Amino acid sequence: MRRVIVIGGGAAGMAAAIQAAAKGNQVMLLEKNEKLGKKLFITGKGRCNLTNDCDMEDFFGHVMRNGKFLYSACYSFSNSQVVSFFEERGLVTKVERGGRVFPESDRSSDVIRVLQKALRDAGVSVRLEAEVVKVLLAPDGKGGRRSQVGGVILKDGTKIEAEAVVIATGGCSYTATGSDGDGYRFAEGLGHTVSVRRPSLVPMEAAEGWVRELQGLSLKNVTLRMKKGKKLLFEEFGEMLFTHYGVSGPLVLSASSVANDSIEHMPLRMEIDLKPALSPEQLDKRILRDFGGNQNRQFKNALQKLFPAKLIPIMVELSGIPSDKKVNEITREERGRLAGLIKALPITISRFRGFDEAIVTRGGVLVREVNPSTMESKLVQGLYFAGEVLDVDALTGGFNLQIAWSTGFLAGDSIA
Ligand SMILES: Cc1cc2nc3c(=O)[nH]c(=O)nc-3n(C[C@H](O)[C@H](O)[C@H](O)COP(=O)(O)OP(=O)(O)OC[C@H]3O[C@@H](n4cnc5c(N)ncnc54)[C@H](O)[C@@H]3O)c2cc1C
Repeated sequence: MRRVIVIGGGAAGMAAAIQAAAKGNQVMLLEKNEKLGKKLFITGKGRCNLTNDCDMEDFFGHVMRNGKFLYSACYSFSNSQVVSFFEERGLVTKVERGGRVFPESDRSSDVIRVLQKALRDAGVSVRLEAEVVKVLLAPDGKGGRRSQVGGVILKDGTKIEAEAVVIATGGCSYTATGSDGDGYRFAEGLGHTVSVRRPSLVPMEAAEGWVRELQGLSLKNVTLRMKKGKKLLFEEFGEMLFTHYGVSGPLVLSASSVANDSIEHMPLRMEIDLKPALSPEQLDKRILRDFGGNQNRQFKNALQKLFPAKLIPIMVELSGIPSDKKVNEITREERGRLAGLIKALPITISRFRGFDEAIVTRGGVLVREVNPSTMESKLVQGLYFAGEVLDVDALTGGFNLQIAWSTGFLAGDSIA
């Protein structure tokens, strides 16, 4: 029986602790907060999108960084095994749009309750308000060729010895939940390399003042494109939202995950195709039809069928067509300008919002220094990593929690 310390009572840490205990180890879970799963509690807007129901091969298509590294982990504890784990313990789940799995109760607290009970049943000793400040190596010699982990030191100075330590401290977004980057420091202190961290799945700020006037407007069924110079970085159909600083919503979050490679090349150009279902020719016909029924009206009063009310004054201004011009006086060239704007409404992205608004952290402990079959460090024996502290991240839809469950499970399972 090995003494195992798991640092971090989030999704990955709880999964690791439960599985390490199931393998017969003596497990202590250390969480710096006064309760477990603070971030888990706010996931999915408090409903916890705990995984995605997709085929596991499709799953990897939603992983943005180092998907291959996750193969063993995700096949050791797949999405269907995650659902079974919770269902067997009394949590009824449901599948929503895009394969998103939620508890039927729509309460993330029910997910946390299942985990707490599983920890108790497995005999894990949980210590709350226990902040780890250092991970220790064992005195020389114990680990042979590689150095061997020795335990941890808590903030109050307590030293706890262990033969295995799992670092499951999360990323560095939404720091109020406790995930404030300690794990990166521990990893670096033990000789690991940590890649540059960037906020991902994060809203963006726009340079144009008119964007702020659209605050609260949600656009459905649009196509969003992100460009660096002429290079297309991202193009997808869906839904987005205007805010008091710029843009947010599902499409924007996904775009951030792709475009954050280009963060040094700001500003980036965003284009919104407001009528993606129409070709330029079809759109011209559509505009002509709308104008046909409004021949003697002013331009600004002839757009109700084309755009939501809030967007009309902006489109009028950006089109450069005088707002009081009679529709029957609008030239073909002016109509072309309006159509161009509809197909590619340009927004200048000046910056991404910060970590406190990012759903995940991009970057982390380099996966090439971690064994993908066990989650054990290749540098320090008995040291394991799980969850967002690793340099892995995925799109929204339950994929990030699946990564946390899978890597946590595999780390725990490998400690025998
Ligand atoms: C608002 C929001 C909504 C989200 N919604 C979803 C969703 O619906 N579905 C989805 O798949 N993903 C979602 N995510 C992402 C997902 O929550 C994370 O990817 C996931 O929680 C990472 O799990 P983790 O266990 O690695 O880290 P965390 O959940 O961050 O847990 C790390 C834990 O370690 C503790 N800790 C840190 N340092 C120390 C230390 N020194 N000593 C002791 N303890 C320490 C922290 O207090 C924390 O409890 C969301 C994220 C946010 C911010």
